[in-house]
Amino acid sequence: MRAGLVSAEAMPALEGVAARYATAITPAMAALINPGDPADPIGLQYIPDVAELITAPHELEDPTADAPFTPVKGVVHRYPDRALLKPLLACPVYCRFCFRREKVGPDGGLLTEAELQEALAWFEGNAAIREVILTGGDPLMLSARRLGEILGRLAGMAHIEILRIHTRVPVADPARITAALVAAIRQAKPVFIAVHANHAREFTPDAAAALARLADAGVPLLGQSVLLRGVNDDAPAMEALLRAMIRNRIKPYYLHSLDPAPGTARFQVPEEEGLALMAALRGRLPGHALPLFVRETPMGGGKKPVA
Ligand SMILES: *Cc1c(COP(=O)(O)O)cnc(C)c1O
Ligand code: SF4
Repeated sequence: MRAGLVSAEAMPALEGVAARYATAITPAMAALINPGDPADPIGLQYIPDVAELITAPHELEDPTADAPFTPVKGVVHRYPDRALLKPLLACPVYCRFCFRREKVGPDGGLLTEAELQEALAWFEGNAAIREVILTGGDPLMLSARRLGEILGRLAGMAHIEILRIHTRVPVADPARITAALVAAIRQAKPVFIAVHANHAREFTPDAAAALARLADAGVPLLGQSVLLRGVNDDAPAMEALLRAMIRNRIKPYYLHSLDPAPGTARFQVPEEEGLALMAALRGRLPGHALPLFVRETPMGGGKKPVA
């Protein structure tokens, strides 16, 4: 809004949205938005809308049901061999459709040193865990030193085989992918990065350079997207997104059906439409460019292919 993307007349109505949900955009993403176009696919992802104050009957505060699977603060353990570590809840941008929108924000969620040590001790004590998935919030908002310390501690555990980081930083704030950050990501064990992007235009020259720094360092890149009304819900937009990913050495991994977080109904695409979209793309794109279309099952059942 301070970025000049919201008119003065619209501001008062949006104060209530900003009071309820975190709001931020990076200069890199703001520069992509055509301010005269209310349907701009980048603008839709970041510019608040009064519709967010309406919670539909099916919408849930914790749609992925992380809370019941949290053994210690910052850890989510749903599957036998892998678990999430959420070192902080800040992000470079705040997506209007975020499934963790009740939790993420600029001033919340950085684990204290004691909490972080407790979370690391939990991983140390769970020999069945082979993969740690750093998420949040956005783990690449940490300083290179802090990130390197956390990854190093985890990589040093004998039972941990691979690490993974889920992030929007390479597209939303590519300048953060510095040589120091890349050095922190390189560990004695593989570190995969799952990059969240929803539209081909997010792959700016700066984003492409940031992704190349990671890929050249040997970091395997996976793509994650959310199927969003008005952003990527037709075949040309989705094809362009997936082609942008593979050109940047990202293997499209998951296309998520929208989780029913509060006030996100304007982004909902019926699953039958998503399935038809995936069917239309098969054959138009190489098989390795097709993500798996998944939904989060209610009550913490985990991600399942939409069929
Ligand atoms: C999504 C998720 C994972 C990762 O699942 P993959 O299918 O391996 O990508 C792991 N733990 C939790 C709690 C999750 O929500
Ligand atoms: S970057 Fe991820 S966690 Fe942060 S607001 Fe966007 S979707 Fe939510």
